[in-house]
Amino acid sequence: NISPDRPVIRQLDEAAINRIAAGEVVERPASAVKELVENALDAGAGRIEVCIADGGKTLIRVTDDGHGIAPEDLPLALSRHATSKIDGTDLLNIHSFGFRGEALPSLGAVGRLKITSRAGAAAGEIVVSGGAHETVRPAALGKGTVVELRDLFYATPARLKFLRTDRAEMQAISDVVKRLAMAEPHVGFTLRDVSGGGEGRVTFRADPETGDMFEALHGRLARILGAEFAENALAIDAEREDIRLTGYAALPTYSRGSAVAQYLFVNGRPVRDKLLIGALRGAYADFLSRDRHPAAALFITCDPHRVDVNVHPAKSEVRFREPGLVRGLIVSALRHALADAGHRASTTVAG
Ligand code: ADP
Ligand code: MG
Repeated sequence: NISPDRPVIRQLDEAAINRIAAGEVVERPASAVKELVENALDAGAGRIEVCIADGGKTLIRVTDDGHGIAPEDLPLALSRHATSKIDGTDLLNIHSFGFRGEALPSLGAVGRLKITSRAGAAAGEIVVSGGAHETVRPAALGKGTVVELRDLFYATPARLKFLRTDRAEMQAISDVVKRLAMAEPHVGFTLRDVSGGGEGRVTFRADPETGDMFEALHGRLARILGAEFAENALAIDAEREDIRLTGYAALPTYSRGSAVAQYLFVNGRPVRDKLLIGALRGAYADFLSRDRHPAAALFITCDPHRVDVNVHPAKSEVRFREPGLVRGLIVSALRHALADAGHRASTTVAG
């Protein structure tokens, strides 16, 4: 006996599916900026410009000089689970920021999206609004890609209401851009506030750094964290069972009152990971009082099969296959560096 008001199972349409996914991928303007800048980096850009109006609520525009999207591929780039970055056979073998093929369709579902791109000789433009896209039109563009997202969350007033002040959203955007700028020191970044129109005001700028990995990173950290951090930073380079730890960690005397200056990266990706933050704290435990926090920018590099980045759509959480090994590497490398520095300092004073 089937009850007459038995619920009906329906297949949702693509626009509804994209809106649901967008809830996880695009929490606030900064998450949209993160996805777009990561796409620009994946496209091999040498320079990236981010223009923001009203904390990203009315306009987010990311311009890059990367390899671009061919006009005929623009509709595909906007369809769900379409990506040029993996073939789906090995979900752990990730060498790009993106791989889920969700960002562009999600952004198209929560704002008015326009993509202009040039690949080879041809440039095209596509507009999406309310999840449906128009046809591709020819466009004029010198190189790369311009992605413009206007009126974020215009169709979801509930989400819009939860956004913070323009200033707070701009702060979060700036943080995202700076983290990615640390991850890619050889790429140039400009962040511009164009509220009210016109050229706007540059709020962050970092020209492409030169030199080897350490030199470039040191230059970039000086730019972002300041000359004082750079002067107090110890170069870290250690390895354990093919897991490498590189970067810079500041002397305990340069510690902060909060954990604001802790930047952690796994295979080039900025992450917020409890294990890594705990290891960093642990390493400084003997050198700092409880209310002080170390400052560091540390990069873990390992075979992608040893870490799962596909824990959450935003990909800022990771799971290591050997967490103990990673923790041990960080704690011992930093303790050695700090002890060496302490030793050097005391012998200098003494002698
Ligand atoms: P994902 O980055 O996970 O592949 P996205 O939805 O972010 O998914 O992008 C879909 C596809 O569109 C990408 O795989 C890439 O081929 C293309 N694309 C997106 N942004 C750019 C860009 N700035 N330059 C070149 N290609 C891009
Ligand atoms: Mg992407």
